[in-house]
Amino acid sequence: MGKYLGRLRHIRQLMHELSVCMALLEQVQKIARQHKATGVERIELKIGPLSGVEAPLLEHAYPLAAAGTMAEDAQLVIESMSIKVRCTQCGAESDVLPNRLICSACGDFRTRVISGDEMLLSRVVLATAKECE
Ligand SMILES: [Zn+2]
Repeated sequence: MGKYLGRLRHIRQLMHELSVCMALLEQVQKIARQHKATGVERIELKIGPLSGVEAPLLEHAYPLAAAGTMAEDAQLVIESMSIKVRCTQCGAESDVLPNRLICSACGDFRTRVISGDEMLLSRVVLATAKECE
């Protein structure tokens, strides 16, 4: 039973990653169309530890989501992002760990996450018919 639930959880997570991939591909294809590209060579992503997106699962889901699109053969490069918080008490910004969102300047826990909870498309390398731009 536990094994079954574990697998179910995995499938759920994979479906989440699939929908993340679909949204990503929509964005990438829009960029490719704007630049009249013939294909997509490389997609560079930054994933925050608090985004809820798991890089290995995203890599797993990508070929499924990209099949038949112009980004089918694109190389997916995933970089992990650091978590930054801003202290609501002293205003300092600090890099923190996911389980320790406290201000490194004054030690207060009343902080707001300013990065690390999102997924960013940092670069798209397009294939174009002509060599020069
Ligand atoms: Zn502080």
